[in-house]
Amino acid sequence: MKKIIFSTLFIAMLPQFVQAAPKNIIYMIGDGMGPAYLAAYRYYQDDPSTKAVESTIYDQLWVGVASTYPDDDTIVTDSAAGATALATHTKSYNGAISVNHQHQPLTTMLEIAKAKGMHTAIVATSQINHATPASFMAHNESRKNYNDIANDYVDNKIAGKFVADVMFGGGTQYFIRKDRNLVNEFKQAGFHYADSWQGLSQLNKLPALALLAPVGLPSALDNPVVDPLKTMTEKALQLLTPSKEGFVLMVEGSQIDWCGHANDIACAMAEMDDFAKAIATAKAYVDSHPDTILVVTADHETGGLSLGAEGDYAWNTKVIKGVKHSAPEISRLLLQSSETDLSQTWTKATNIALTSAELASLTSAQQQVKSAIGTTLPTNMDNLTTVQENAIKTLNAVVKQHINHYSRTGWTSGAHTAIDVPVLSWGQQRLDFAGFQDNTDIARKLIGYLESK
Ligand SMILES: [Zn+2]
Repeated sequence: MKKIIFSTLFIAMLPQFVQAAPKNIIYMIGDGMGPAYLAAYRYYQDDPSTKAVESTIYDQLWVGVASTYPDDDTIVTDSAAGATALATHTKSYNGAISVNHQHQPLTTMLEIAKAKGMHTAIVATSQINHATPASFMAHNESRKNYNDIANDYVDNKIAGKFVADVMFGGGTQYFIRKDRNLVNEFKQAGFHYADSWQGLSQLNKLPALALLAPVGLPSALDNPVVDPLKTMTEKALQLLTPSKEGFVLMVEGSQIDWCGHANDIACAMAEMDDFAKAIATAKAYVDSHPDTILVVTADHETGGLSLGAEGDYAWNTKVIKGVKHSAPEISRLLLQSSETDLSQTWTKATNIALTSAELASLTSAQQQVKSAIGTTLPTNMDNLTTVQENAIKTLNAVVKQHINHYSRTGWTSGAHTAIDVPVLSWGQQRLDFAGFQDNTDIARKLIGYLESK
């Protein structure tokens, strides 16, 4: 027993150049996942029947922190510059997809792995051509060029090979277009394609593409599919194993950020829960495949989340657990209910008892939307008038205002912030990621493993 502890400790303390580089890399990015999100999730999932607050998988793997500033005239990064740094170890401007200021391509970790004959994969809950996965796959001067970026997933080749062997997430809107059907092109090149969860479960060969929504997947809180990110991560690992030369798998918890932008705490906790389960899947994989390293971090923090607000020494997880849907979904349900049923619909969706004044503010916001749009929210929100848009925004805002008030959740912004983000790791080389580092250092170490092969 003493001997085993000594050898594990001894291996962990060996400097990087002595330890063999890991064969496989699992790289997980919680978009917008600042340190407060990890603490929030710990209290949110705490078992109230025990005195102690149970630690989470995030706590168990936590080894360091990283700075996230971009190469731009602000210290607050967007997801494109953040992911570019995490994918290439080079900083660039906000909006850049793995290009420098001269718009020249910066080689990504997945491209380096592909050039070494390794298997490569991306998994996300956003559209797969969104800023973070795109920064591993494509090169573009602007993250907004969604169709061009999608084209790059076919056109950007490494020694004649596609950059990724596995791509799971959303995005049919960008990959099946009138001007170009990229899904057909992938199929003609031998990719096995799925556009349903059942289809995903039946995939059993590389290369594989699964697009499970027109744009992003539904948020985890509203998604009838249980643990969507965990499910996709499991399938990706299954397809990548065994891998002769090893693999690099990038998994993004994309919508933590979307919930943060919306200041929607219940939505954020559901995303953190799905991400936690995907991380547990990856950790178990490392435990059974010790030649694998797992690194988890974030590209930035979103929303300026604080656990406690309004001068109260309180953050009420019970309130958050009682909220059954994301704010837009609650708004949709409220719109379908009559004025008399509104309070009942609200209580069923949130388990929060409102004062009559608060109920009045909700009713007037609901009425505004009804008179601007009617009782059914359009599925496609792109063609709304400003009046309609503002009415919906107001209703969502009132919904969140009540949830944030009763849970005492604070938000300083609807955008990103500059605070350092957590760095988590599991595997023999986990201490390589301990302590303070910059986001580019994380990528430099991982790329170092690849280049040492
Ligand atoms: Zn964001």
